[in-house]
Amino acid sequence: MEYYVYMSAQMALFELESGLNVPDRIGHARVSRRRVRQILTKPTGVLAGLDFTLNPYGGCSFGCAYCYAAFFQPDEAKAADWGNWVEVKENALDLLRGEPGLAGSRLLIGSVTDPYQPLERKTGLTRSLLEHMAKLSPQPRVIVQTRSPIVVQDIDVLLRFKDLRVNMSVTTDDDAVRKRYEPLCASIGRRLDAVRRLSESGVRAGLSLAPLLPISNVGEFAKTINKLGIESAWTGYFHPGTRRFASGTRENALVLAKEDGWNFERYLETVSELRKLVPVLKKYNEDEKAS
Ligand code: SF4
Repeated sequence: MEYYVYMSAQMALFELESGLNVPDRIGHARVSRRRVRQILTKPTGVLAGLDFTLNPYGGCSFGCAYCYAAFFQPDEAKAADWGNWVEVKENALDLLRGEPGLAGSRLLIGSVTDPYQPLERKTGLTRSLLEHMAKLSPQPRVIVQTRSPIVVQDIDVLLRFKDLRVNMSVTTDDDAVRKRYEPLCASIGRRLDAVRRLSESGVRAGLSLAPLLPISNVGEFAKTINKLGIESAWTGYFHPGTRRFASGTRENALVLAKEDGWNFERYLETVSELRKLVPVLKKYNEDEKAS
Protein backbone atom coordinates (compact mmCIF):
# COMPACT_ATOMS: atom_id res chain seq x y z
CA MET A 1 0.00 0.00 0.00
CA GLU A 2 2.75 2.42 0.97
CA TYR A 3 4.65 1.54 -2.19
CA TYR A 4 1.53 2.19 -4.25
CA VAL A 5 1.01 5.59 -2.63
CA TYR A 6 4.65 6.51 -3.20
CA MET A 7 4.53 5.46 -6.83
CA SER A 8 1.28 7.38 -7.31
CA ALA A 9 3.03 10.51 -6.12
CA GLN A 10 5.89 9.91 -8.54
CA MET A 11 3.52 9.44 -11.46
CA ALA A 12 1.56 12.53 -10.49
CA LEU A 13 4.75 14.55 -10.46
CA PHE A 14 5.56 13.36 -13.96
CA GLU A 15 2.14 14.40 -15.08
CA LEU A 16 2.58 17.76 -13.43
CA GLU A 17 5.78 18.54 -15.32
CA SER A 18 4.35 17.39 -18.61
CA GLY A 19 1.06 19.25 -18.48
CA LEU A 20 -0.69 18.70 -15.15
CA ASN A 21 -3.30 16.05 -15.72
CA VAL A 22 -5.88 16.67 -13.02
CA PRO A 23 -9.42 15.29 -12.65
CA ASP A 24 -12.54 17.42 -13.07
CA ARG A 25 -13.79 16.38 -9.65
CA ILE A 26 -12.39 15.03 -6.44
CA GLY A 27 -15.21 13.49 -4.44
CA HIS A 28 -17.94 16.11 -4.18
CA ALA A 29 -15.68 19.02 -5.20
CA ARG A 30 -15.18 20.58 -8.64
CA VAL A 31 -11.56 20.85 -9.71
CA SER A 32 -10.12 23.42 -12.08
CA ARG A 33 -6.68 24.70 -13.02
CA ARG A 34 -5.59 28.25 -12.57
CA ARG A 35 -2.49 30.23 -13.50
CA VAL A 36 -1.56 32.61 -10.72
CA ARG A 37 0.69 35.68 -10.75
CA GLN A 38 2.48 34.86 -7.51
CA ILE A 39 2.88 31.79 -5.37
CA LEU A 40 4.44 33.30 -2.24
CA THR A 41 2.52 35.73 -0.07
CA LYS A 42 3.95 38.05 2.56
CA PRO A 43 1.96 37.26 5.69
CA THR A 44 0.45 39.73 8.12
CA GLY A 45 -1.17 39.44 11.55
CA VAL A 46 -0.25 36.43 13.67
CA LEU A 47 1.88 35.04 10.81
CA ALA A 48 3.90 38.23 10.34
CA GLY A 49 7.00 36.57 11.84
CA LEU A 50 7.25 34.39 8.75
CA ASP A 51 8.65 35.50 5.41
CA PHE A 52 6.06 33.81 3.24
CA THR A 53 2.95 31.69 3.09
CA LEU A 54 2.54 29.24 0.24
CA ASN A 55 -0.77 27.69 -0.84
CA PRO A 56 -0.51 25.18 -3.70
CA TYR A 57 -4.27 25.09 -4.13
CA GLY A 58 -7.07 27.63 -4.09
CA GLY A 59 -10.09 26.50 -2.09
CA CYS A 60 -10.21 23.29 -0.09
CA SER A 61 -12.37 20.22 -0.53
CA PHE A 62 -12.41 19.53 3.22
CA GLY A 63 -14.86 22.41 3.70
CA CYS A 64 -14.66 22.51 7.50
CA ALA A 65 -17.62 24.28 9.06
CA TYR A 66 -15.40 26.70 10.98
CA CYS A 67 -12.91 27.46 8.18
CA TYR A 68 -11.74 31.07 8.28
CA ALA A 69 -9.97 30.73 4.91
CA ALA A 70 -13.25 31.34 3.08
CA PHE A 71 -13.05 34.95 4.29
CA PHE A 72 -9.88 35.49 2.26
CA GLN A 73 -11.67 34.53 -0.95
CA PRO A 74 -12.56 37.79 -2.73
CA ASP A 75 -15.11 36.16 -5.05
CA GLU A 76 -18.32 36.12 -3.03
CA ALA A 77 -19.86 33.22 -4.96
CA LYS A 78 -16.76 31.10 -4.31
CA ALA A 79 -16.66 32.13 -0.67
CA ALA A 80 -20.29 31.07 -0.27
CA ASP A 81 -19.53 27.78 -2.02
CA TRP A 82 -16.41 27.09 0.07
CA GLY A 83 -15.58 23.40 0.30
CA ASN A 84 -17.12 22.50 -3.05
CA TRP A 85 -14.29 23.60 -5.34
CA VAL A 86 -10.53 23.40 -5.61
CA GLU A 87 -8.21 25.23 -7.96
CA VAL A 88 -4.85 23.72 -8.84
CA LYS A 89 -2.25 26.46 -9.20
CA GLU A 90 -0.77 24.89 -12.29
CA ASN A 91 2.22 27.23 -12.62
CA ALA A 92 3.12 27.04 -8.91
CA LEU A 93 6.38 25.17 -9.45
CA ASP A 94 7.53 27.48 -12.27
CA LEU A 95 6.84 30.51 -10.11
CA LEU A 96 8.60 29.00 -7.10
CA ARG A 97 11.70 28.27 -9.19
CA GLY A 98 11.90 31.96 -10.02
CA GLU A 99 11.52 33.24 -6.44
CA PRO A 100 14.81 34.95 -5.47
CA GLY A 101 13.88 35.29 -1.77
CA LEU A 102 12.94 31.67 -1.19
CA ALA A 103 16.31 30.21 -0.13
CA GLY A 104 16.79 30.56 3.61
CA SER A 105 13.33 32.04 4.19
CA ARG A 106 10.79 30.97 6.81
CA LEU A 107 7.56 29.85 5.25
CA LEU A 108 4.27 28.19 6.06
CA ILE A 109 2.63 25.85 3.57
CA GLY A 110 -1.13 25.71 3.97
CA SER A 111 -2.36 28.97 5.52
CA VAL A 112 -5.63 29.07 3.52
CA THR A 113 -5.88 25.59 2.01
CA ASP A 114 -4.88 22.09 3.00
CA PRO A 115 -1.76 21.11 1.00
CA TYR A 116 -2.58 17.43 1.59
CA GLN A 117 -6.26 17.45 0.72
CA PRO A 118 -7.30 14.38 -1.34
CA LEU A 119 -6.43 16.01 -4.68
CA GLU A 120 -2.74 15.96 -3.69
CA ARG A 121 -2.76 12.19 -4.25
CA LYS A 122 -3.53 12.88 -7.93
CA THR A 123 -1.36 15.91 -8.61
CA GLY A 124 1.67 15.60 -6.32
CA LEU A 125 1.78 19.40 -6.50
CA THR A 126 2.74 20.00 -2.86
CA ARG A 127 5.34 17.27 -3.17
CA SER A 128 6.88 18.90 -6.24
CA LEU A 129 7.18 22.24 -4.41
CA LEU A 130 8.84 20.56 -1.43
CA GLU A 131 11.24 18.70 -3.70
CA HIS A 132 12.33 21.98 -5.25
CA MET A 133 12.78 23.68 -1.87
CA ALA A 134 14.77 20.77 -0.46
CA LYS A 135 17.42 21.34 -3.16
CA LEU A 136 18.01 25.00 -2.29
CA SER A 137 20.98 26.24 -0.32
CA PRO A 138 20.25 27.42 2.23
CA GLN A 139 16.99 25.54 2.43
CA PRO A 140 13.87 27.39 3.55
CA ARG A 141 12.68 26.67 7.09
CA VAL A 142 9.29 25.14 6.52
CA ILE A 143 6.11 24.57 8.48
CA VAL A 144 3.51 22.33 6.82
CA GLN A 145 0.00 22.82 8.18
CA THR A 146 -2.49 20.03 7.46
CA ARG A 147 -5.24 17.88 8.88
CA SER A 148 -4.67 15.08 6.42
CA PRO A 149 -2.85 11.78 6.99
CA ILE A 150 -1.90 11.86 3.29
CA VAL A 151 1.14 13.85 4.43
CA VAL A 152 2.90 10.58 5.36
CA GLN A 153 3.25 9.74 1.66
CA ASP A 154 5.93 12.45 1.50
CA ILE A 155 7.98 11.44 4.53
CA ASP A 156 10.95 10.79 2.26
CA VAL A 157 10.88 14.39 1.00
CA LEU A 158 10.11 15.88 4.41
CA LEU A 159 13.22 14.19 5.79
CA ARG A 160 15.43 16.03 3.28
CA PHE A 161 14.90 19.29 5.17
CA LYS A 162 17.15 20.41 8.00
CA ASP A 163 14.40 22.56 9.52
CA LEU A 164 10.84 21.45 8.86
CA ARG A 165 7.86 20.73 11.07
CA VAL A 166 4.49 19.25 10.19
CA ASN A 167 1.63 20.64 12.24
CA MET A 168 -1.33 18.28 12.31
CA SER A 169 -4.70 19.81 13.19
CA VAL A 170 -6.72 17.68 15.57
CA THR A 171 -9.69 19.58 16.91
CA THR A 172 -11.36 17.03 19.20
CA ASP A 173 -10.94 13.52 20.60
CA ASP A 174 -14.46 12.55 19.56
CA ASP A 175 -15.30 11.45 16.01
CA ALA A 176 -18.99 12.22 16.58
CA VAL A 177 -17.99 15.85 17.15
CA ARG A 178 -15.53 15.74 14.26
CA LYS A 179 -18.26 14.54 11.91
CA ARG A 180 -20.41 17.55 12.77
CA TYR A 181 -17.76 20.20 12.13
CA GLU A 182 -15.42 18.55 9.61
CA PRO A 183 -17.23 15.52 8.15
CA LEU A 184 -14.99 15.31 5.08
CA CYS A 185 -11.72 15.14 6.99
CA ALA A 186 -10.00 11.96 8.13
CA SER A 187 -10.92 10.41 11.45
CA ILE A 188 -9.11 11.51 14.59
CA GLY A 189 -7.43 8.10 14.84
CA ARG A 190 -5.98 8.29 11.33
CA ARG A 191 -4.60 11.75 11.97
CA LEU A 192 -3.01 10.70 15.25
CA ASP A 193 -1.53 7.64 13.55
CA ALA A 194 -0.04 9.92 10.91
CA VAL A 195 1.56 12.08 13.62
CA ARG A 196 3.02 8.96 15.23
CA ARG A 197 4.45 7.84 11.90
CA LEU A 198 5.97 11.24 11.23
CA SER A 199 7.60 11.32 14.67
CA GLU A 200 8.84 7.75 14.45
CA SER A 201 10.32 8.49 11.02
CA GLY A 202 12.24 11.46 12.35
CA VAL A 203 10.01 14.22 10.95
CA ARG A 204 9.39 16.93 13.56
CA ALA A 205 5.69 17.15 14.31
CA GLY A 206 3.37 19.42 16.25
CA LEU A 207 -0.30 19.31 17.11
CA SER A 208 -2.67 22.16 16.40
CA LEU A 209 -5.73 21.87 18.65
CA ALA A 210 -7.38 24.74 16.85
CA PRO A 211 -10.13 25.54 16.78
CA LEU A 212 -10.56 23.36 19.82
CA LEU A 213 -13.97 21.66 19.79
CA PRO A 214 -15.72 19.79 22.63
CA ILE A 215 -13.48 17.10 24.18
CA SER A 216 -15.11 13.94 25.54
CA ASN A 217 -12.34 12.73 27.84
CA VAL A 218 -9.63 15.25 28.61
CA GLY A 219 -7.53 12.81 30.66
CA GLU A 220 -7.41 10.11 27.98
CA PHE A 221 -6.86 12.66 25.24
CA ALA A 222 -3.92 14.11 27.17
CA LYS A 223 -2.40 10.63 27.60
CA THR A 224 -2.73 10.04 23.85
CA ILE A 225 -1.10 13.38 23.01
CA ASN A 226 1.77 12.75 25.40
CA LYS A 227 2.64 9.52 23.59
CA LEU A 228 2.80 11.06 20.11
CA GLY A 229 6.40 12.20 20.23
CA ILE A 230 5.49 15.75 19.18
CA GLU A 231 7.63 18.76 19.97
CA SER A 232 4.84 21.28 20.41
CA ALA A 233 1.08 21.68 20.71
CA TRP A 234 -1.16 24.68 21.03
CA THR A 235 -4.82 25.53 21.23
CA GLY A 236 -7.04 28.15 19.68
CA TYR A 237 -10.68 29.13 19.85
CA PHE A 238 -12.78 30.05 16.83
CA HIS A 239 -11.46 33.03 14.92
CA PRO A 240 -13.45 35.97 16.22
CA GLY A 241 -13.38 38.26 13.16
CA THR A 242 -16.60 38.64 11.24
CA ARG A 243 -15.84 41.54 8.91
CA ARG A 244 -15.63 40.91 5.18
CA PHE A 245 -12.03 40.08 4.22
CA ALA A 246 -11.09 39.63 7.87
CA SER A 247 -10.59 36.11 9.10
CA GLY A 248 -13.61 34.85 10.96
CA THR A 249 -15.56 31.72 11.70
CA ARG A 250 -18.29 30.67 9.35
CA GLU A 251 -21.84 30.90 10.64
CA ASN A 252 -22.43 27.17 10.40
CA ALA A 253 -19.78 26.40 13.01
CA LEU A 254 -21.14 28.99 15.40
CA VAL A 255 -24.60 27.42 15.11
CA LEU A 256 -23.16 23.97 15.85
CA ALA A 257 -21.17 25.32 18.79
CA LYS A 258 -24.30 26.90 20.23
CA GLU A 259 -26.12 23.58 19.93
CA ASP A 260 -23.21 21.90 21.73
CA GLY A 261 -23.04 24.53 24.47
CA TRP A 262 -19.45 25.13 23.40
CA ASN A 263 -18.39 28.68 24.19
CA PHE A 264 -15.26 30.60 25.11
CA GLU A 265 -15.62 29.86 28.82
CA ARG A 266 -15.83 26.10 28.22
CA TYR A 267 -12.90 26.37 25.85
CA LEU A 268 -10.81 28.07 28.55
CA GLU A 269 -11.80 25.45 31.15
CA THR A 270 -10.84 22.63 28.79
CA VAL A 271 -7.52 24.24 27.88
CA SER A 272 -6.75 24.77 31.55
CA GLU A 273 -7.29 21.04 32.22
CA LEU A 274 -5.24 20.03 29.19
CA ARG A 275 -2.38 22.34 30.12
CA LYS A 276 -2.02 20.61 33.47
CA LEU A 277 -1.65 17.26 31.73
CA VAL A 278 0.19 18.00 28.48
CA PRO A 279 3.66 19.52 29.04
CA VAL A 280 4.16 20.65 25.44
CA LEU A 281 0.88 22.54 25.26
CA LYS A 282 1.40 26.25 24.73
CA LYS A 283 -0.98 29.08 25.28
CA TYR A 284 -2.12 30.46 21.95
CA ASN A 285 -4.99 32.93 21.99
CA GLU A 286 -6.58 32.47 25.38
CA ASP A 287 -6.40 36.18 25.96
CA GLU A 288 -8.48 36.93 22.91
CA LYS A 289 -12.07 37.80 23.50
CA ALA A 290 -14.50 35.68 21.55
CA SER A 291 -17.11 37.58 19.66
S1 SF4 B 1 -8.71 21.90 5.98
FE1 SF4 B 1 -8.15 23.98 6.58
S2 SF4 B 1 -8.36 25.21 4.71
FE2 SF4 B 1 -9.45 23.28 4.37
S3 SF4 B 1 -11.57 23.74 4.88
FE3 SF4 B 1 -10.59 22.85 6.73
S4 SF4 B 1 -9.86 24.64 7.90
FE4 SF4 B 1 -10.29 25.35 5.80
